[in-house]
Amino acid sequence: MQTIITPLLPHLTLPGKPLTRVRQPKLNPIEFSIRCSSSISSPPMDAQNPPKRVVVCGGGVIGVCTAYFLSKSGAAVTLVEKSSIACGASGKAGGFLALDWCDGGPVSSLARASFDLHRSLAQELNGADLYGYRPVTTLSLSITETTSSSSAQLNRKSGPNVPSWVDGPAKGPRTIGTTETTAQVHPQLFTKTLLSKAVEEYGLEVVIGKLEKVEVAEGEAKAVVLEGGGEIEADAVVLALGPWTGKLSLLGLMFRISGLKAHSIVLEPKDPDAITPHALFLSYYPAQGGKPMDPEVYPRPTGEVYICGMSAEEEVPDDAEQVIPVPESIRVLKTVAKNVSSHLVKGEANVKAEQACFLPCTDDSLPVIGEVPGVKGCYVATGHSCWGILNGPATGAAVSELVLDGHASVVDLSRFSPARFSRGRKW
Ligand SMILES: Cc1cc2nc3c(=O)[nH]c(=O)nc-3n(C[C@H](O)[C@H](O)[C@H](O)COP(=O)(O)OP(=O)(O)OC[C@H]3O[C@@H](n4cnc5c(N)ncnc54)[C@H](O)[C@@H]3O)c2cc1C
Repeated sequence: MQTIITPLLPHLTLPGKPLTRVRQPKLNPIEFSIRCSSSISSPPMDAQNPPKRVVVCGGGVIGVCTAYFLSKSGAAVTLVEKSSIACGASGKAGGFLALDWCDGGPVSSLARASFDLHRSLAQELNGADLYGYRPVTTLSLSITETTSSSSAQLNRKSGPNVPSWVDGPAKGPRTIGTTETTAQVHPQLFTKTLLSKAVEEYGLEVVIGKLEKVEVAEGEAKAVVLEGGGEIEADAVVLALGPWTGKLSLLGLMFRISGLKAHSIVLEPKDPDAITPHALFLSYYPAQGGKPMDPEVYPRPTGEVYICGMSAEEEVPDDAEQVIPVPESIRVLKTVAKNVSSHLVKGEANVKAEQACFLPCTDDSLPVIGEVPGVKGCYVATGHSCWGILNGPATGAAVSELVLDGHASVVDLSRFSPARFSRGRKW
């Protein structure tokens, strides 16, 4: 069953470095209406040079950023999403952004370009009000869990150089990001805002349906086939299916995309004004001993506090909506919350969400972005692991250039080419 959806409006454990990430400017609610494709306005048609027809598969941050930049550049774009926009990691991530945390590695230029693009997009799209974009100060802290179950028995006094709401047993604060180098977005609102803009202003069409296969003839992508038999013709296809990308036989034989399941909770403290824009990366020592954990805490301008952690490799279920959190992992995150702040204990904060989702990971820990070897006009963009919200904009802008111009100038994509997995093979 395919449905065309038009949104009317529009919101980690890091490799090498710490994973994570928003009060009040009211964020506009997300509304969707359904209308048929013929009523969707398209860019003006030039009979001599019709726009390139591009189908982008996957409605997470990577697919939506790609569809945004492609449609803004004049392509006739259809986005195919199996379930709902940002239903996976892109709707359940922290939304933390860092300029230089990937420096010294192959992802550095992608991250830097993307951090800058986030800033300019936020100015262009009113990101502060629509999706909670804001610069933040980022601290690392160490917390040794107290066994006390009573909030009154915790050491409820913030230490030196720690925001006053962080009044649990936190020690050794260190500033690891300033408002120049770290920022945040509400990832689901960010993704949906870009989608709305692309639909309303650049003629993007959204189809809810499951991609089954890419129709290839004479080594070129010609169409996508959807579950139930529907087919959409295309001059180019972009596959951005997150941790589901490897389930497509076309790509699954070429490289592996695994899923790392991570948990998060969203709390609504009764006194959100007390919570300052400080992102916290914790070294958290459980009371019963064992390995320290590295949960992340992100107050949001919506008045919520997002906390994530507790990851493990697991088989990715067929549908993002089928991802169920492990109760013990949620319990641990609530204990973390209690040890961070008296504003986050039961009774002082409502639990808005208890959730889990999958990070898309590759075997060499690098994203895979580029044309699929042996299939002209078929591109892949995935494997962003814990940095997909940060790296969505530059990935989308670069893939748009690659599809429309044949090369990317925003960022050099050669290091991320899927061809790296096929060296020595014949296609
Ligand atoms: C707990 C947690 C916290 C995180 N925090 C941050 C952070 O603070 N900063 C940061 O930069 N990154 C963060 N990340 C990472 C980030 O969320 C991911 O890298 C990013 O969301 C991946 O986006 P994606 O579009 O590749 O995949 P997804 O968001 O998984 O989207 C893939 C989409 O494809 C759709 N799909 C699948 N199969 C099909 C099909 N056959 N046909 C059509 N559609 C299909 C799915 O329904 C889904 O909507 C975090 C991740 C987790 C798990």
